[in-house]
Order: sequence, then structure tokens, then C-alpha cells
Amino acid sequence: MPSTRQIGLTGGIGSGKSTVATLLAERGAAVIDADAISRASTAGGGGALPAIAATFGAALIGADGALDRAAMRALVYRDAGARQRLEAIVHPLVAQEIDRQAQRALDAGRRLIVFDVPLLVESGPRWRARVDRVLVVDCDPATQIERVMARNQLPREEIERIIAAQVTRAQRLGAADAVLFNGAGVTLTALHTQVHTWAARFGL
Ligand code: ATP
Repeated sequence: MPSTRQIGLTGGIGSGKSTVATLLAERGAAVIDADAISRASTAGGGGALPAIAATFGAALIGADGALDRAAMRALVYRDAGARQRLEAIVHPLVAQEIDRQAQRALDAGRRLIVFDVPLLVESGPRWRARVDRVLVVDCDPATQIERVMARNQLPREEIERIIAAQVTRAQRLGAADAVLFNGAGVTLTALHTQVHTWAARFGL
């Protein structure tokens, strides 16, 4: 039986990671979305909520039973240690759920597992050690800004602030085993073609 390849998929905001992940999933990859898992852990019924209530108080849980993000933001603003305490609750739960989903894909004999991790490079050598390859979706900042403005109606300054808080394009490229360019001039059709080529290389 062919072994399962495991790749980390990353890229800056609006670079096209989700689009690439969806295309790889259509080709049969099991996609594990780290951000979605993280969000679910603090959404209504999420696994992190009991520990959040115990650590920060029930006032941090909204009427809908989910983490009150505005209240948490205000707390983190007042108390710098609160962010670390929140991360100490959320990160292990997210790691556990990622492991669970990966094991399920392995048990199902999937040929490719794609870990969609926006902050893969930011999170240090942990992911590097875990995956066979790091695939970076590369995009020039002007195109990132244009796409996110169109998608989220966010002001340009807000997107620039997010880009500045992420690792630089050069740092991300430095961590790449494979690069998929999805910047200025690359149409969605051209992106599809590139992804299909990579899917074949990854055994799909
Ligand atoms: P984020 O980090 O913000 O979650 P992302 O890296 O997952 O973003 P996508 O959501 O895949 O990026 O892409 C951002 C937007 O740009 C989406 O609206 C998507 O449809 C669009 N897009 C992606 N690639 C292209 C392309 N080659 N041509 C035109 N639009 C594109």
C-alpha cells in the first residue's frame, strides 16, 4: 500500500491557501484546517470553554455560549499575560484535534494529508519536523491587499497591519520546499493548473 504523504500548506493573508486547499481536497487530499479547529474550540460548545470560564470567569462567555471575543480582546489589552493563559488552554486542544483528524485520514488510507496552517512558519520548527514538505502559496503584498479588500471589505490599513504582523514573504519562502506562485497576473484557471500538477507530484 502506498504510504501517506503529509504536507504543510501555508502563505500570508489572502495568498490563496484556502483556494489551494479546496482544489487539493477535490483531488482527494484530506485537508486539516488549523484555523477552523482553533475557532471551533472557542465557539459554542467548544472544548476550550470550560477551562476559559474557570480561568477568566464566566463573564468571558457570551450569551450564545461561545467565547466573548470582544471581552477577551479587552482583557488581553489590559493584562498582557492573559493571551499566554488563553493560548495555554487553546493550543493543546487544537494540537489534539489535529492529531485526531490526521489519524483518521491515515486510518482511511488517504494518500495525501494537507495541514492548512496559516502561521506554520511563525510557529517555529514544530511543523517542519512533522510534515514531509512545506508548500508555500506565494503572493505579492499588493495582490494580497487587493484580494482581501475585495473579499472582506476591510480597509487597506488593516490588511497592511496584518501583513506586517506576519513573517515576511522572504522568511516564508526560506521555509518552503515547494512554492506555488499565486500573485499578480495568475488567474484562477492558471492556479488550478498549477495545483493539479502539484497534486500529481504528491501522488494524487
Ligand atoms: P486567509 O489567510 O485570509 O484565510 P487565504 O490565503 O486562504 O486567505 P483565499 O481565501 O484562498 O486566501 O484567497 C483570497 C481571495 O482571493 C479569495 O476571495 C479567493 O477567491 C481569491 N483568489 C485566490 N486566488 C486567486 C486568483 N489566482 N485569482 C483571483 N482571485 C483569487
